[in-house]
Amino acid sequence: MRKLTWLAALLVIPNAWSADRALDARAAQEAAKLLPFYEKMHSAPELSHHEKETSARVAEELRAAGYDVTDHVGKYADPHLTGYGVVAVLRNGSGPTVLVRADMDALPVEEQTNASYASHVRAVDDSGTEVPVMHACGHDIHTTVLIGTARLLASSKSKWKGTLMLVVQPAEEKGDGARAMLADGLYTRFPKPDFAIALHDFSDLETGTVGFISGYMLAGATSVDVTIRGRGGHGAYPQFAKDPIVMASEFVMAIQTIVSRENVPTDPAVVTVGSIHGGTKYNIIPDEVKLQLTIRTYKPEVRQRILDALSRIANGIAQAGGIPPDRMPVVKVNETEKTTPIYNDPKLTGRVAASLQKALGHDKVLPLEPMMGSEDFGAYGLDGMQIPSVLFRLGAIDSQRIADSKATHTPLPALHSSLFLPAPEPTLRTGMIAMTSVVMDLMR
Ligand SMILES: [Zn+2]
Ligand SMILES: [Zn+2]
Repeated sequence: MRKLTWLAALLVIPNAWSADRALDARAAQEAAKLLPFYEKMHSAPELSHHEKETSARVAEELRAAGYDVTDHVGKYADPHLTGYGVVAVLRNGSGPTVLVRADMDALPVEEQTNASYASHVRAVDDSGTEVPVMHACGHDIHTTVLIGTARLLASSKSKWKGTLMLVVQPAEEKGDGARAMLADGLYTRFPKPDFAIALHDFSDLETGTVGFISGYMLAGATSVDVTIRGRGGHGAYPQFAKDPIVMASEFVMAIQTIVSRENVPTDPAVVTVGSIHGGTKYNIIPDEVKLQLTIRTYKPEVRQRILDALSRIANGIAQAGGIPPDRMPVVKVNETEKTTPIYNDPKLTGRVAASLQKALGHDKVLPLEPMMGSEDFGAYGLDGMQIPSVLFRLGAIDSQRIADSKATHTPLPALHSSLFLPAPEPTLRTGMIAMTSVVMDLMR
């Protein structure tokens, strides 16, 4: 039965398996033209919440490509922050509305690549501290690919029908950029999409290839602040104090059993304590210890079970230590630093993978394993995954570097590393071919 379906597809669309050579040539032209834009963006990175110049350049490029562009989209919980999101709409008759998303913020990392266009930028972050800035996650690749895709689709309007909605969002690295776009009326001021698509470059994939996965791809991240409260005193007289350092230590060890003993083993979950601070001096028992945790889960019920367990264990340790009710621990979710999981809708993933295989060749489209990292693109699907979404990976690394890494058993620099360096031209070109093909096939 399955064989017959494949055979029928081949008979109906004789060129189904041959790549679109005209698109390859156009993408090569746009990649070459946009290389200076990419290098400039790479050498002038801007931190999350500070994407002012980048967003202005992006808006200008998308206007020049013929799109109806709205800038300064994005409303954060903190009213002092400016939303630098850009939304570009191109209406082309009746058909589906497809959202394509790129992100444009950089990270507080000191670039150590030897690229001629390496960043030497330093900037002041949200807390007022001066930090180095680098596009260490490749969001400059994503933005440049999106502009190239915008041009390719605008110049081939006879090949697709519907409404194309390009979103260039700020603050992905803070986890609140996508939410800020939605809070500012992304789906009310602009059309609500039928599908949402994005790509993210990858440090483990060769340039020229892409990777995909159906179902859960990346985890939802939840940041949790925990304060273990005791009663301070002199280090020499513990009998008069309630030591929060001992209780915090117990807490760190006790929560290790949440994943191993309370979680369903087939549900992936991570509980990591990333920060623990308490005390000022050798001989003083402090009043409290503060901890910062990251929780990674796919399913919402797993997340809730872990949060309940954290509170229960913290309270249990405090009760056992004789802490009075008004000094019980405080376990609080940081609502501004959390992301929804990335769930690639299986049906849409099938269509996306078929487009990618057709455009790039079957050997260039690789299956991936799910990971527990996070990305805020999941927010565009809305709660309960109302809008089918897919994020696919774009290979970014030169084949020679991959071969060297294998030969010397030295791991390649990962995303967020000061040495992360995509191979620009082939990565931009492949990204443009991939994204343009996916969008065209959804809107044919
Ligand atoms: Zn990142
Ligand atoms: Zn990223």
